[in-house]
Amino acid sequence: MVRRILVLLLVLILCFGAVGCSGEESSSDSSSTESPSETSSVAGVDTSSKESLKEMYMEALKKSEVFKQYDADDWRSHAYDYKLIALTFDDGPVFSVADDNNVTQRIVDILVENDGRGTFFFTGRSLKQNGFALPQYALDNGFEVANHSYNHASLKEADYETAVFEIVGVNDLYVENIGVAPKYFRGGGFTTGTNMWKVLGEQDMIAIASLRGGSGDHAGGSATVDGLVTRLSPEKVSDGEIVCMHSTNKTGVTPDALAVVLPRLYAEGYRFCTLSELFAFKGVDLKDVPRGEYIKKVEIGDNGMVIFN
Ligand SMILES: [Zn+2]
Repeated sequence: MVRRILVLLLVLILCFGAVGCSGEESSSDSSSTESPSETSSVAGVDTSSKESLKEMYMEALKKSEVFKQYDADDWRSHAYDYKLIALTFDDGPVFSVADDNNVTQRIVDILVENDGRGTFFFTGRSLKQNGFALPQYALDNGFEVANHSYNHASLKEADYETAVFEIVGVNDLYVENIGVAPKYFRGGGFTTGTNMWKVLGEQDMIAIASLRGGSGDHAGGSATVDGLVTRLSPEKVSDGEIVCMHSTNKTGVTPDALAVVLPRLYAEGYRFCTLSELFAFKGVDLKDVPRGEYIKKVEIGDNGMVIFN
């Protein structure tokens, strides 16, 4: 299903005065190659032209305050110039910081080496068992931590009390131990259920999935480095994608693949961001993100409206 934010576009246009840029300016700018006669409808903009609407959105986006908090030499200060991928990692934290084969820590380090960040969806039971050193390490490096339910159980038939425990129980663990309240939830296996959506609504949390599930790099999974590299090759991924991987495969296949493929993607103009950065860099306020469904990407369509899944 395609979800669009027309309101957002209009707000951006009103805030930044993008309406009429192409038509009005071209009439006074002799260097412009655009013909004023091509923009003939509302406020001088041809709203029937999909291309002009996307360009208009991008021009408005570039004036957003969100980019001004970064130094000029940081790609985030002009993130609209790049294709963005939000890499997300499920199921941990499993290994201790002292473990030489620490998968979570290596994922953080490799993303940082490639000037990026990502988001970890940890489970309550793993947090309880293995502690908060790895989540804190991720946070200290600009990553985001999120909620992957307490027991990784299916919430399809969960009663209300169970859904509260599986969702709020994890939020409480985060707040008590590292003072962070997660904004994002992903059920095990992208599970869905009536009471799950009810509790997520009460918590004002956003459900995050991925266009493609089944990366096979979960604990005990059969993913290979080559397979993961192919899956994340520049030809396969697209701007605005949310990618689902795991931080629990003891072979280290996940960070090994990232070490190969991230530099390739970087060279092709991709950059790697947290979920909150993905929304912000695409000009989407979190309050405008649809609730009650899984978000799989954040892409600005040719019609200048945002597509979420
Ligand atoms: Zn999972």
